[in-house]
Amino acid sequence: MARTIETSITEEDMKIEGSLRPRYLSEYIGQEKIKANLRVYIDAARQRGDSLDHALFYGPPGLGKTTLAGIIANEMGVNMKITSGPAIEKPGEIAAILNNLSEGDILFVDEIHRLNRQVEEVLYPAMEDFAIDIMIGKGSSARSIRLDLPKFTLVGATTRAGMLTAPLRDRFGMIHRLEFYTVKELQQIVKHSARILEVDIDEGGALELARRSRGTPRLANRILKRVRDFAQVKYDGAITEEIARTALDLMDVDRLGLDHVDRNMLSTMILKFQGGPVGLDTLAAAIGEDAGTIEDVYEPFLIQNGLLNRTPRGRVATEAAYRHMGYPVPEKDE
Ligand code: ADP
Repeated sequence: MARTIETSITEEDMKIEGSLRPRYLSEYIGQEKIKANLRVYIDAARQRGDSLDHALFYGPPGLGKTTLAGIIANEMGVNMKITSGPAIEKPGEIAAILNNLSEGDILFVDEIHRLNRQVEEVLYPAMEDFAIDIMIGKGSSARSIRLDLPKFTLVGATTRAGMLTAPLRDRFGMIHRLEFYTVKELQQIVKHSARILEVDIDEGGALELARRSRGTPRLANRILKRVRDFAQVKYDGAITEEIARTALDLMDVDRLGLDHVDRNMLSTMILKFQGGPVGLDTLAAAIGEDAGTIEDVYEPFLIQNGLLNRTPRGRVATEAAYRHMGYPVPEKDE
């Protein structure tokens, strides 16, 4: 069964996300600092009749990076082409994509930290001088010619800003980190999505879904859909706090939004490693998860909520983690 709190995009999300995705800055809830910055940059670029600076968004999956790229395109009144780091294998492929852009277009590159070196090297002059160098001919008659590109805007998204090479990172005029959403913001998102999906939900129901969405709009929307199905089959269709709670308990999402993988991780740290410090790879092996997934998907939310600490010697379960998991907090050695 698919995990409810799986934050990467699923086929089911694709179907509903189109209709729920905010299209303009004014509809985008939360991330106030980013919105304020973008507003200024977009207005200034529009006044100058210029394209926007290249922008990089980073943060855990499902927080709205792709959505922001789409909003920039809509606000600027330009087209957006979408690709991703692992999808582009050869320098020729990125050259073709760039060559097909029109003036002002947005090129959105998801998982940009996964571009390979040769592809990245094509991007440097493209981002800086709006030109690419291509090799013509072979052997001794080979020469490189410079091809001008339209002025475009690259919008990159990554879950790991730390994995971007310095030359690539330096070519972005704007770098923004997306934060987890507050319960209040998620409650607004849930209510907004419920209106679009024509789901009947009261304040208490929306609040309960918001509390258990791990600070992530994608999860809030997914949980809303699941709980709606539950309400429809078991009750008269309307989502109240009690129905939300019952449905989420059944879905194995606890009151902080943690699912069995998060809880397994915390209880493994507590029971097998005395709460840590335990190295990331050791922990990954112990719970049978990929270390990168732990780092990108699980850990950020646990850290944000004070359940886990990252120390130079490894991961440590906090006192709050012991309490949340129902284990006695160990006495501190003096
Ligand atoms: P990411 O690219 O960071 O993985 P997405 O941009 O695909 O995340 O966002 C996932 C879904 O969450 C979107 O389809 C949208 O419905 C919803 N969403 C994201 N951010 C917001 C927001 N600020 N306000 C309302 N809905 C949002």
